[in-house]
Amino acid sequence: MSKIYDVIILGAGPAGLAAGLYAGRSRLSTLIIEKGQDGGQIAITDEIENYPGQIVEGESGPSLIARMTQQAEKFGAERVSDTIKEVQLEGDVKVLKSEKNEYQGKNVIIATGAYSRPIGCKGEAEFMGKGVSYCATCDANFFEDFEVYVVGGGDSAVEEAMYLTKFARKVTIIHRRNELRAAKSIQEKAFANPKIDFFWDSVVEEVYGDDILQGMIVKNVKTGETRKVEADPEDGMFGLFGFIGTVPNSKLFEGIIDMDERGYIKTDEDMHTNIPGVYAAGDVRIKSLRQVVTAAADGAIAAVQVERSMSDYF
Ligand code: NAP
Repeated sequence: MSKIYDVIILGAGPAGLAAGLYAGRSRLSTLIIEKGQDGGQIAITDEIENYPGQIVEGESGPSLIARMTQQAEKFGAERVSDTIKEVQLEGDVKVLKSEKNEYQGKNVIIATGAYSRPIGCKGEAEFMGKGVSYCATCDANFFEDFEVYVVGGGDSAVEEAMYLTKFARKVTIIHRRNELRAAKSIQEKAFANPKIDFFWDSVVEEVYGDDILQGMIVKNVKTGETRKVEADPEDGMFGLFGFIGTVPNSKLFEGIIDMDERGYIKTDEDMHTNIPGVYAAGDVRIKSLRQVVTAAADGAIAAVQVERSMSDYF
Protein backbone atom coordinates (compact mmCIF):
# COMPACT_ATOMS: atom_id res chain seq x y z
CA MET A 1 0.00 0.00 0.00
CA SER A 2 1.54 3.32 -1.03
CA LYS A 3 1.74 6.29 1.32
CA ILE A 4 -1.38 8.42 1.58
CA TYR A 5 -0.28 12.07 1.46
CA ASP A 6 -2.26 14.84 3.09
CA VAL A 7 -2.03 16.71 -0.18
CA ILE A 8 -0.78 15.98 -3.66
CA ILE A 9 0.01 19.00 -5.83
CA LEU A 10 -0.03 18.52 -9.57
CA GLY A 11 2.34 20.94 -11.28
CA ALA A 12 5.47 22.79 -10.15
CA GLY A 13 4.90 26.26 -11.54
CA PRO A 14 4.49 29.28 -9.24
CA ALA A 15 1.04 28.06 -8.07
CA GLY A 16 2.18 24.50 -7.31
CA LEU A 17 5.42 25.55 -5.64
CA ALA A 18 3.69 28.16 -3.48
CA ALA A 19 1.12 25.54 -2.48
CA GLY A 20 3.99 23.16 -1.67
CA LEU A 21 5.71 25.77 0.46
CA TYR A 22 2.55 26.57 2.44
CA ALA A 23 1.51 22.93 2.81
CA GLY A 24 4.98 21.82 3.86
CA ARG A 25 5.26 24.68 6.31
CA SER A 26 1.90 23.63 7.82
CA ARG A 27 3.40 20.18 8.42
CA LEU A 28 1.11 18.49 5.91
CA SER A 29 2.69 15.52 4.17
CA THR A 30 3.02 16.95 0.69
CA LEU A 31 3.94 15.55 -2.68
CA ILE A 32 4.49 17.72 -5.76
CA ILE A 33 4.25 15.90 -9.10
CA GLU A 34 5.66 17.61 -12.21
CA LYS A 35 5.94 16.00 -15.63
CA GLY A 36 8.39 18.43 -17.20
CA GLN A 37 10.63 21.15 -15.87
CA ASP A 38 9.69 23.30 -12.90
CA GLY A 39 8.26 26.72 -13.59
CA GLY A 40 5.65 26.08 -16.24
CA GLN A 41 5.42 29.10 -18.49
CA ILE A 42 7.83 31.23 -16.51
CA ALA A 43 10.56 28.65 -17.10
CA ILE A 44 10.64 30.09 -20.61
CA THR A 45 10.26 33.74 -19.64
CA ASP A 46 13.32 35.88 -20.12
CA GLU A 47 12.62 38.67 -17.69
CA ILE A 48 10.43 38.98 -14.61
CA GLU A 49 10.13 42.53 -13.40
CA ASN A 50 6.70 42.69 -11.80
CA TYR A 51 6.85 40.07 -9.06
CA PRO A 52 6.64 42.11 -5.84
CA GLY A 53 10.01 42.53 -4.21
CA GLN A 54 11.74 41.46 -7.40
CA ILE A 55 14.03 44.37 -8.14
CA VAL A 56 17.21 42.52 -9.05
CA GLU A 57 18.13 43.61 -12.56
CA GLY A 58 17.93 40.69 -14.98
CA GLU A 59 15.86 38.28 -12.84
CA SER A 60 14.74 35.55 -15.21
CA GLY A 61 11.90 33.04 -14.95
CA PRO A 62 14.29 30.13 -14.29
CA SER A 63 16.23 31.98 -11.57
CA LEU A 64 13.03 32.94 -9.72
CA ILE A 65 11.57 29.46 -10.03
CA ALA A 66 14.79 27.83 -8.79
CA ARG A 67 14.44 29.76 -5.52
CA MET A 68 10.74 28.83 -5.25
CA THR A 69 11.60 25.14 -5.70
CA GLN A 70 14.33 25.34 -3.07
CA GLN A 71 11.96 27.03 -0.64
CA ALA A 72 9.19 24.40 -1.09
CA GLU A 73 11.70 21.59 -0.55
CA LYS A 74 13.13 23.32 2.51
CA PHE A 75 9.72 22.97 4.17
CA GLY A 76 9.54 19.27 3.43
CA ALA A 77 7.52 19.00 0.23
CA GLU A 78 8.49 15.80 -1.57
CA ARG A 79 9.04 15.86 -5.32
CA VAL A 80 8.53 13.38 -8.11
CA SER A 81 8.84 13.65 -11.85
CA ASP A 82 5.98 11.74 -13.46
CA THR A 83 3.10 12.14 -15.90
CA ILE A 84 -0.36 11.50 -14.49
CA LYS A 85 -2.65 9.78 -16.99
CA GLU A 86 -5.71 8.98 -14.92
CA VAL A 87 -7.36 10.37 -11.81
CA GLN A 88 -9.98 9.14 -9.36
CA LEU A 89 -10.98 12.17 -7.34
CA GLU A 90 -14.20 11.14 -5.62
CA GLY A 91 -14.07 9.80 -2.05
CA ASP A 92 -11.78 10.47 0.88
CA VAL A 93 -8.63 9.15 -0.77
CA LYS A 94 -7.87 10.50 -4.24
CA VAL A 95 -5.86 8.32 -6.60
CA LEU A 96 -3.54 9.65 -9.33
CA LYS A 97 -2.13 7.11 -11.78
CA SER A 98 0.81 7.40 -14.15
CA GLU A 99 1.93 4.64 -16.49
CA LYS A 100 3.95 2.91 -13.76
CA ASN A 101 2.94 4.46 -10.45
CA GLU A 102 -0.05 5.21 -8.34
CA TYR A 103 -0.18 8.12 -5.86
CA GLN A 104 -2.74 8.59 -3.10
CA GLY A 105 -3.72 11.76 -1.30
CA LYS A 106 -6.49 13.03 0.93
CA ASN A 107 -6.49 16.27 -1.05
CA VAL A 108 -5.37 17.32 -4.49
CA ILE A 109 -4.34 20.77 -5.69
CA ILE A 110 -4.42 21.06 -9.47
CA ALA A 111 -1.79 23.57 -10.56
CA THR A 112 -1.18 22.31 -14.07
CA GLY A 113 -1.09 25.74 -15.71
CA ALA A 114 -1.58 26.51 -19.36
CA TYR A 115 0.37 26.32 -22.63
CA SER A 116 0.76 28.56 -25.66
CA ARG A 117 -2.17 28.67 -28.04
CA PRO A 118 -1.20 27.68 -31.59
CA ILE A 119 -1.34 30.45 -34.22
CA GLY A 120 -3.91 28.43 -36.12
CA CYS A 121 -2.52 28.85 -39.66
CA LYS A 122 -2.05 26.24 -42.36
CA GLY A 123 1.34 24.47 -42.17
CA GLU A 124 2.01 25.53 -38.57
CA ALA A 125 2.58 22.04 -37.13
CA GLU A 126 4.91 21.10 -40.00
CA PHE A 127 7.24 24.07 -39.36
CA MET A 128 7.30 23.86 -35.57
CA GLY A 129 10.98 23.88 -34.61
CA LYS A 130 11.87 24.74 -38.22
CA GLY A 131 11.09 28.44 -37.98
CA VAL A 132 7.86 28.42 -35.97
CA SER A 133 8.27 28.78 -32.20
CA TYR A 134 6.36 29.79 -29.07
CA CYS A 135 9.38 30.48 -26.86
CA ALA A 136 11.73 33.38 -27.48
CA THR A 137 13.98 32.45 -24.55
CA CYS A 138 14.43 28.97 -26.02
CA ASP A 139 14.85 29.82 -29.69
CA ALA A 140 15.85 33.48 -30.12
CA ASN A 141 19.53 32.71 -30.61
CA PHE A 142 18.74 30.63 -33.71
CA PHE A 143 17.69 33.88 -35.36
CA GLU A 144 20.80 35.96 -34.79
CA ASP A 145 20.69 38.67 -37.48
CA PHE A 146 17.63 37.14 -39.21
CA GLU A 147 14.18 38.64 -39.68
CA VAL A 148 11.58 37.54 -37.17
CA TYR A 149 7.79 37.93 -36.99
CA VAL A 150 5.74 37.81 -33.80
CA VAL A 151 2.00 37.11 -33.77
CA GLY A 152 -0.09 38.72 -31.00
CA GLY A 153 -0.70 42.06 -29.35
CA GLY A 154 -0.72 41.26 -25.62
CA ASP A 155 1.99 41.66 -22.97
CA SER A 156 3.69 38.42 -23.98
CA ALA A 157 3.89 39.24 -27.68
CA VAL A 158 5.25 42.72 -27.16
CA GLU A 159 7.70 41.82 -24.37
CA GLU A 160 9.00 38.82 -26.27
CA ALA A 161 9.29 40.92 -29.46
CA MET A 162 11.54 43.31 -27.54
CA TYR A 163 13.63 40.41 -26.28
CA LEU A 164 13.93 39.09 -29.84
CA THR A 165 15.40 42.44 -31.01
CA LYS A 166 18.53 41.51 -29.05
CA PHE A 167 19.09 38.79 -31.66
CA ALA A 168 17.13 39.46 -34.84
CA ARG A 169 17.93 42.38 -37.13
CA LYS A 170 14.24 43.21 -37.47
CA VAL A 171 11.11 42.11 -35.60
CA THR A 172 7.64 42.65 -37.05
CA ILE A 173 4.61 42.27 -34.81
CA ILE A 174 1.56 40.92 -36.63
CA HIS A 175 -1.60 41.85 -34.76
CA ARG A 176 -5.19 41.19 -35.72
CA ARG A 177 -6.36 44.65 -34.60
CA ASN A 178 -4.95 48.16 -35.02
CA GLU A 179 -4.09 48.66 -31.36
CA LEU A 180 -2.15 46.58 -28.89
CA ARG A 181 -3.63 44.91 -25.83
CA ALA A 182 -0.29 45.09 -23.97
CA ALA A 183 0.13 47.42 -20.97
CA LYS A 184 0.86 51.01 -22.00
CA SER A 185 4.32 50.98 -20.39
CA ILE A 186 5.26 47.92 -22.46
CA GLN A 187 3.78 49.44 -25.65
CA GLU A 188 5.80 52.62 -25.18
CA LYS A 189 9.06 50.67 -25.08
CA ALA A 190 8.09 48.75 -28.21
CA PHE A 191 7.10 51.87 -30.18
CA ALA A 192 10.42 53.44 -29.24
CA ASN A 193 12.41 50.42 -30.41
CA PRO A 194 13.77 51.10 -33.93
CA LYS A 195 14.02 47.38 -34.70
CA ILE A 196 10.28 46.78 -34.21
CA ASP A 197 7.76 47.17 -37.01
CA PHE A 198 4.03 46.33 -37.16
CA PHE A 199 1.55 44.68 -39.52
CA TRP A 200 -1.79 45.95 -38.17
CA ASP A 201 -5.19 44.29 -38.72
CA SER A 202 -3.38 41.20 -39.95
CA VAL A 203 -3.37 37.44 -39.42
CA VAL A 204 -1.08 34.70 -40.70
CA GLU A 205 -3.04 32.38 -42.98
CA GLU A 206 -0.38 29.96 -44.10
CA VAL A 207 3.31 29.19 -43.64
CA TYR A 208 5.43 27.33 -46.17
CA GLY A 209 8.96 26.48 -47.18
CA ASP A 210 11.29 23.79 -48.33
CA ASP A 211 11.72 21.97 -45.00
CA ILE A 212 12.45 25.26 -43.17
CA LEU A 213 10.22 28.32 -42.89
CA GLN A 214 10.72 30.46 -45.99
CA GLY A 215 7.42 32.17 -46.61
CA MET A 216 3.98 32.98 -45.27
CA ILE A 217 0.71 34.45 -46.41
CA VAL A 218 -0.55 37.30 -44.27
CA LYS A 219 -4.11 38.58 -44.66
CA ASN A 220 -5.39 42.03 -43.82
CA VAL A 221 -8.64 41.31 -41.99
CA LYS A 222 -10.12 44.71 -42.86
CA THR A 223 -9.48 44.75 -46.60
CA GLY A 224 -9.26 41.00 -47.19
CA GLU A 225 -6.03 41.55 -49.13
CA THR A 226 -3.28 38.96 -48.76
CA ARG A 227 0.46 39.45 -49.06
CA LYS A 228 3.30 37.02 -49.41
CA VAL A 229 6.15 37.50 -46.95
CA GLU A 230 9.26 35.71 -48.13
CA ALA A 231 12.65 35.19 -46.51
CA ASP A 232 15.49 37.42 -47.66
CA PRO A 233 17.31 35.19 -50.21
CA GLU A 234 20.59 35.70 -48.33
CA ASP A 235 18.99 34.43 -45.09
CA GLY A 236 17.04 31.56 -46.66
CA MET A 237 14.58 31.54 -43.75
CA PHE A 238 12.90 33.64 -41.06
CA GLY A 239 11.34 33.08 -37.65
CA LEU A 240 7.69 33.18 -36.65
CA PHE A 241 6.85 33.33 -32.95
CA GLY A 242 3.29 32.90 -31.68
CA PHE A 243 2.18 34.65 -28.46
CA ILE A 244 -1.59 34.69 -28.67
CA GLY A 245 -2.60 33.58 -25.23
CA THR A 246 -2.88 30.24 -23.56
CA VAL A 247 -4.87 27.01 -23.35
CA PRO A 248 -5.33 25.35 -19.93
CA ASN A 249 -3.72 22.00 -19.15
CA SER A 250 -6.97 20.48 -17.93
CA LYS A 251 -7.81 17.67 -20.37
CA LEU A 252 -7.19 15.06 -17.67
CA PHE A 253 -10.11 16.46 -15.70
CA GLU A 254 -12.64 16.79 -18.51
CA GLY A 255 -16.02 15.37 -17.50
CA ILE A 256 -14.82 15.12 -13.88
CA ILE A 257 -14.36 18.71 -12.72
CA ASP A 258 -16.54 21.67 -13.65
CA MET A 259 -14.86 23.96 -16.19
CA ASP A 260 -15.81 26.64 -18.70
CA GLU A 261 -16.15 26.07 -22.44
CA ARG A 262 -12.41 26.80 -22.93
CA GLY A 263 -11.36 24.24 -20.29
CA TYR A 264 -10.46 26.60 -17.44
CA ILE A 265 -11.44 25.06 -14.08
CA LYS A 266 -14.18 26.70 -12.03
CA THR A 267 -13.31 27.45 -8.40
CA ASP A 268 -14.64 29.62 -5.65
CA GLU A 269 -12.40 32.32 -4.22
CA ASP A 270 -10.81 29.78 -1.87
CA MET A 271 -9.81 27.55 -4.81
CA HIS A 272 -12.38 24.80 -4.11
CA THR A 273 -13.57 22.97 -7.21
CA ASN A 274 -16.91 21.15 -7.32
CA ILE A 275 -15.27 18.05 -5.82
CA PRO A 276 -14.60 18.04 -2.05
CA GLY A 277 -10.87 17.85 -1.34
CA VAL A 278 -9.94 18.97 -4.87
CA TYR A 279 -8.61 22.49 -5.44
CA ALA A 280 -7.32 24.34 -8.48
CA ALA A 281 -4.72 27.13 -8.42
CA GLY A 282 -2.97 29.33 -10.96
CA ASP A 283 -3.42 29.67 -14.71
CA VAL A 284 -5.52 26.50 -15.04
CA ARG A 285 -8.49 28.09 -13.26
CA ILE A 286 -10.91 30.80 -14.35
CA LYS A 287 -9.48 34.14 -13.20
CA SER A 288 -9.06 37.70 -14.39
CA LEU A 289 -5.30 38.05 -14.06
CA ARG A 290 -2.77 35.35 -14.90
CA GLN A 291 0.53 36.44 -13.37
CA VAL A 292 3.21 34.85 -11.22
CA VAL A 293 1.96 36.82 -8.23
CA THR A 294 -1.66 35.67 -8.64
CA ALA A 295 -0.61 32.06 -9.29
CA ALA A 296 1.49 32.05 -6.13
CA ALA A 297 -1.37 33.60 -4.17
CA ASP A 298 -3.78 30.92 -5.42
CA GLY A 299 -1.36 28.18 -4.37
CA ALA A 300 -1.03 29.66 -0.88
CA ILE A 301 -4.81 29.94 -0.48
CA ALA A 302 -5.40 26.37 -1.67
CA ALA A 303 -2.81 24.94 0.73
CA VAL A 304 -4.22 26.89 3.67
CA GLN A 305 -7.71 25.61 2.80
CA VAL A 306 -6.39 22.05 2.81
CA GLU A 307 -4.78 22.62 6.18
CA ARG A 308 -8.00 24.07 7.64
CA SER A 309 -10.12 21.23 6.28
CA MET A 310 -7.86 18.74 8.06
CA SER A 311 -7.65 20.55 11.39
CA ASP A 312 -10.15 20.22 14.18
CA TYR A 313 -9.46 23.61 15.72
CA PHE A 314 -11.47 25.52 13.10
P1 NAP B 1 -3.37 37.87 -23.92
O1 NAP B 1 -3.23 39.04 -23.01
O2 NAP B 1 -4.61 37.05 -23.87
O3 NAP B 1 -3.17 38.44 -25.39
C1 NAP B 1 -3.32 37.60 -26.48
C2 NAP B 1 -3.08 38.42 -27.74
O4 NAP B 1 -3.17 37.54 -28.85
C3 NAP B 1 -4.13 39.51 -27.91
O5 NAP B 1 -3.53 40.68 -28.42
C4 NAP B 1 -5.09 38.88 -28.91
O6 NAP B 1 -5.67 39.81 -29.77
C5 NAP B 1 -4.19 37.98 -29.73
N1 NAP B 1 -4.91 36.81 -30.21
C6 NAP B 1 -5.69 35.95 -29.51
N2 NAP B 1 -6.15 34.97 -30.30
C7 NAP B 1 -5.66 35.22 -31.52
C8 NAP B 1 -5.78 34.56 -32.77
N3 NAP B 1 -6.48 33.43 -32.91
N4 NAP B 1 -5.12 35.09 -33.83
C9 NAP B 1 -4.38 36.21 -33.71
N5 NAP B 1 -4.23 36.89 -32.54
C10 NAP B 1 -4.87 36.39 -31.47
O7 NAP B 1 -2.16 36.82 -23.76
P2 NAP B 1 -0.65 37.02 -23.24
O8 NAP B 1 -0.03 38.21 -23.87
O9 NAP B 1 -0.03 35.69 -23.41
O10 NAP B 1 -0.83 37.32 -21.71
C11 NAP B 1 -1.52 36.38 -20.87
C12 NAP B 1 -1.62 36.96 -19.47
O11 NAP B 1 -0.32 37.07 -18.93
C13 NAP B 1 -2.22 38.36 -19.46
O12 NAP B 1 -2.97 38.52 -18.31
C14 NAP B 1 -1.00 39.26 -19.43
O13 NAP B 1 -1.26 40.51 -18.82
C15 NAP B 1 -0.06 38.40 -18.60
N6 NAP B 1 1.34 38.74 -18.90
C16 NAP B 1 1.88 39.77 -18.19
C17 NAP B 1 3.19 40.13 -18.43
C18 NAP B 1 3.74 41.27 -17.64
O14 NAP B 1 3.01 41.86 -16.85
N7 NAP B 1 5.00 41.62 -17.77
C19 NAP B 1 3.95 39.47 -19.39
C20 NAP B 1 3.36 38.44 -20.12
C21 NAP B 1 2.04 38.10 -19.86
P3 NAP B 1 -6.77 40.88 -29.27
O15 NAP B 1 -6.00 41.91 -28.52
O16 NAP B 1 -7.38 41.33 -30.53
O17 NAP B 1 -7.72 40.09 -28.41
